[in-house]
Amino acid sequence: SIPLFLHLVIYRSASSSTIPSFLLVGPSGSGKTSLLTLFERGRHAETRISQAPLTVEVSLPVTTTTASSPYRSANDPSNQIHKKFLLADTPGHGKLRHYAFDSVIKPQNLKGIIFMVDAADVSTSSGGTSNEALRQAAEYLHDLLLLLQKRANTKSPRGPTELPVLVAANKLDLFTALPAPLLKTALESEITNMRSLRTKGLLDSGIGMNDLDIGDEKEWLGEGGEGKFDFTQMDEVNVSVTVAGGNVLGADGPDVKQWWDWIGSNL
Ligand code: GDP
Repeated sequence: SIPLFLHLVIYRSASSSTIPSFLLVGPSGSGKTSLLTLFERGRHAETRISQAPLTVEVSLPVTTTTASSPYRSANDPSNQIHKKFLLADTPGHGKLRHYAFDSVIKPQNLKGIIFMVDAADVSTSSGGTSNEALRQAAEYLHDLLLLLQKRANTKSPRGPTELPVLVAANKLDLFTALPAPLLKTALESEITNMRSLRTKGLLDSGIGMNDLDIGDEKEWLGEGGEGKFDFTQMDEVNVSVTVAGGNVLGADGPDVKQWWDWIGSNL
């Protein structure tokens, strides 16, 4: 059973704070718990099994430039203070996805969403047909982006608030892993397939969507829902999608610099 109270307490406490937060989502096994542990402790430790959403407070390394202080010199004393932010982890298991979606609908100083993918898991292609891990990752991402699009379309006439998404291609230390640009293309073409199936009404519109109750607005991603999907189509609803690679673990140690930079530029 799921400790729902924990979830409520966590987001209640996040709302009472002005600390910017990032939501960490993605399929099970993609490395979310490992990343959270790395960010929290500054080094890798044993990962916990994530069964409930949890929030940890982490500090941005002083060397990372943030959007709010891009021109400060290294000697500026305010630069010596770690920029703190909350990173909320959510379970990757499909049936628990509504946890993540809940907190997207009710953001509390939410600065962005990190969608983590195991880039090694999605790379094993069998004779040109896409594999199950890629399909599942793409479906999860599709549902998340569709939710963000709906969220944007129900907002005030001033236009949707920005909500950037980082697709973190993890496990690039493994030689079988898809490099970030290839992962991007693979996800886009998988989402293209998914979208064309859905616009034809052959698939339902995914978990959690019915809860939103915003009438029968367009149920597909992007303008028209036809042709090839690419992430720039999300710009229309102020959701900029970035795909960047890295690894939390690996023989040569972690490489999460691009992700830190993305977080820093969105703080
Ligand atoms: P979660 O289910 O998304 O929280 O994923 P975990 O953090 O539990 O990681 C799943 C597995 O992938 C664990 O065995 C980790 O040790 C492993 N893992 C996570 N990140 C990396 C990485 O960058 N490289 C490699 N080689 N393994 C990783």
